[in-house]
This record gives sequence, C-alpha cells and structure tokens, in this order.
Amino acid sequence: MLVYMKAACTREDLDRVAGVARGLGHEAEPMACGADHAVRVSGGPEPPHPAVFETLPGVARVVPVLRPAWRALRAAGRPDTVVRVGACAIGSGRFALIAGPCAVEGPEQLLAVARAVRLAGADLLRGGAYKPRTSPYDFQGLGAEALELLVRAREETGLPIVTEAVDERSLRLVARHGDVVQIGARNMQNFALLKQVGESGLPVLLKRSMSATLEDLLHSAEYLLDAGNPNVILCERGIRTFSTHSRFTLDLAIVPLLKRLTHLPVIVDPSHATGHARSVPALARAALAAGADGVMIEVHADPAHALCDGPQSLLPDEFAALAAGLRALEAFLERQRETVS
Ligand code: PEP
Ligand code: MN
Repeated sequence: MLVYMKAACTREDLDRVAGVARGLGHEAEPMACGADHAVRVSGGPEPPHPAVFETLPGVARVVPVLRPAWRALRAAGRPDTVVRVGACAIGSGRFALIAGPCAVEGPEQLLAVARAVRLAGADLLRGGAYKPRTSPYDFQGLGAEALELLVRAREETGLPIVTEAVDERSLRLVARHGDVVQIGARNMQNFALLKQVGESGLPVLLKRSMSATLEDLLHSAEYLLDAGNPNVILCERGIRTFSTHSRFTLDLAIVPLLKRLTHLPVIVDPSHATGHARSVPALARAALAAGADGVMIEVHADPAHALCDGPQSLLPDEFAALAAGLRALEAFLERQRETVS
C-alpha cells in the first residue's frame, strides 16, 4: 500500500503515518515518489484499511497497490499521459476509435475494411500481421506481407496502424512500419519483449492478459515506462471466469479504477471480450460511459469467411452505426458533465 502525502506535508506527518503503520504490525518506509512523498506500507498480518491513514494530517490519498509501480501510478500534479499517433491523441478527452480486421488476410479484404472504417470515423486502423493463436494449426498471420498491406492501407486512408508484435523479430518490423505496436494478452508478461518495446519508444497498446490482476497489468506497464517509453496505452479485453456465455468476461470495473490509479490512457476491446458481434455495441457504449479513452473493435466485410475471429467481427455498416452512436453518447456525457460541474 502507498500512502501519498500532500505537497505541503511535514516531517512529523510522514513520521506519524509510519508510526501508525508500525503500530499495526506493518513495515513502513517513507520515500520520495517522483516529486511527491509517500509512505510505503507492507508486511503485517493483513492489509490495513485505507481509512486508517486517510484521515491523518498531511495525507493526500491511499493507493492499495502492494508493490509500487512508480512510473505507472498517478502522482499529485502530474498531467495525464496523452499518446499522440498521427492526428489522434489518445487520453486527451476525445474518445478514440480503433477498428479493423482481426488479421490481415489480403489486399482486397484489408482495403475494403480500411476504407469503410475511415468513412465511419475511425481514428486508427487495426490489423494483425502476426497472430498469436491458441492452436498451432490456426491461421498465424501473413507476417511481413501483411505489414506491407497495412502500409498501403495507411497511404490510402491516412489512418495510422496498430499491429501486434509477438517476438523480437516481428517487433523490429512492426517498429519500422507500424504506428502503434500491440502487445497481446498472451504476451503481457513476456518481460523480455516488454523491455524491447520499452526501448523502441514506439507507442504501445498493452492488452491485459486474461489472468492478470490490476497489479500485474500495472507492473507490465512499468516495464515499458522504466525502459524509457512513455507512450503506453492500457487495454482491457476480458478475463477468464467461470462464465461460459461469452468468450471472456469484460471487466469494465477495472476502467474507473485504472483511470484513478494511473495517468495512462485506458481503452477497451469488447470484441475479444465477448466473442459475439451482437454484444459488441452495447459493451463499447458501456466502456465509454465507464470512462475509457477509446475502444478497439474488430470489423470484417465477410465475417462468415474470416480467417480469424469472424463471429465477433462487426460488418462495416454495423461499425458505422456504432461509431455514430458513440460520438452522440460522447457529446451527451460531455453535456452532462458540464451541467454537473
Ligand atoms: C487481437 O487483438 O488481435 C488479439 C489477439 O487480442 P488478445 O491479445 O486480447 O487476445
Ligand atoms: Mn481477433
């Protein structure tokens, strides 16, 4: 647990927090945390209740993260991170729409979707060149050929491209041709890869693994930030639960929590979370209402014949209707915020 102190806190305030923590059987370590002071509270029989510290003089807030991820966590006075990709500023307050096929299958397939999502108002084009598939017998992606097709689609539509790297080799190629490198759920804890992505400096979309806690996700982001890459976008894409009615369970509850704990933009992928195209629009709207900075949506012109993830892909028209609805909802929520404040 981290007890963040107010900028004007005194030495006595810090010592008081440490003393209370030690009195309850915890270890307490006052430390500089960026420009701020904080007291790290660890050990002890069970985690202390935040209220124990919240009311003490000089305390700003209590963050229930056990092992601190300094760079990913919000610090007082630090502005939110905005990741700029072409004309799109993710985390700036304008909801970002990332759309495209699960995998690049060929020139016609990609261009048809790229043109359609561009017309519908997408900000970025997604498309997998390297696909981390559960079965080795499934379509693995067109690799370097797909990257060339993505570059052509970008030239034609002007949309920056988001595409996944699965290892060092694909990362080198994605860094050369792509605009945002995606680290997929299955690689979220590939720490060697994270370090390389961190060193690349390329904007990175880090997907939460299906079994990662919030803390795990923040620590993976910390690898990227610690390696010198500030351009990190977090993505909730569903976790594994006992529930079988959808592919994964979309954990929207993590969105407001992440927004409160970190300064990083947070987006939601309802396509992989549900696995059903029909559920995608409602959950995309819910993501916006929950405070996400954007969504990533799979779109295919012929889902029945898609080589990957057809059942969860929207048709171009369905995506256009969703995009228009999201913009309307965004304007509505903005008006509401103005009325309340
Ligand atoms: C994807 O976005 O194409 C993908 C494979 O997602 P995830 O890593 O979340 O399964
Ligand atoms: Mn997919």
